[in-house]
Amino acid sequence: MTSNLFVTAYAFLLGLCVGSFLNVCVERWPAELSVVRPRSRCPKCGHQLAWFENVPVVSWLVLRARCRSCAEPISAIYPLGEVAVGLLWAACAARWGITFTAVRVAVFLTLLTGVALTDLRHYLIPDGFTVTGLLWTLATALAAPFVGETLLFAGPYDALIGACAGAGLIAIVGWLGEVTLKREAMGMGDMTLMAFMGAALGPARAILAVFLGAAIGAVVFLGVVYPVALLRRGRVTAQTELALGSAPTELPLVPFGVFLAPAGVVMLLWGDQLIDRLFLGM
Ligand SMILES: [Zn+2]
Repeated sequence: MTSNLFVTAYAFLLGLCVGSFLNVCVERWPAELSVVRPRSRCPKCGHQLAWFENVPVVSWLVLRARCRSCAEPISAIYPLGEVAVGLLWAACAARWGITFTAVRVAVFLTLLTGVALTDLRHYLIPDGFTVTGLLWTLATALAAPFVGETLLFAGPYDALIGACAGAGLIAIVGWLGEVTLKREAMGMGDMTLMAFMGAALGPARAILAVFLGAAIGAVVFLGVVYPVALLRRGRVTAQTELALGSAPTELPLVPFGVFLAPAGVVMLLWGDQLIDRLFLGM
């Protein structure tokens, strides 16, 4: 019991550090900057952070959410992202202990968190997350039988088929969307994301993940985002155009990755039970 608690606490601290690095990726990859160099700086005054200003969560609290040099407020998104990833890693350790499966799930959740955050903030999905995810998933699928842990994730053969099925389905959905909406509906990032998720889930769960993601997206978008956007039409359009550099439409763009990512998590953890209920329980 105590050792379990110790492992979970350690996983939480490890997750905080991973979350801290994830913040760097989310901020720098869309601008095509290196995530290794230069060291972190204040975006306002360029003050380079000393090690004690760069400790996950603690620094943000000690500095009272302000830059030590210019007193510019530091967004709560950073510590919240760190805590979120810390909790995910702690949950994996609590559920699966120090196992291959725990690491695989933790990495899967971390990469999808990065995808969702970047898509939400910058309307794009960096290859850094999806290519890393695809290669990592295929490599661990090959290794899994030797480690003796084949829980949750697709085997090597299903991983390959799943990657193709996921990317292929999203390409078809995007193509149909483009024909219907007369504008680009799906980016390359959504395709690489579904290749990564498909490799983890295998074909059946990958296909369901696309439909689940679309359903979540439709509910959130038509129910919340779109009405709000219509109410503030002028402002939102101007902002979207500014962010994209071009004017795609009057409607705000859908960051589909934000909805695909949670759908992927649901399918990884509960997809098999769901498929049993839906198709075999009849
Ligand atoms: Zn500053």
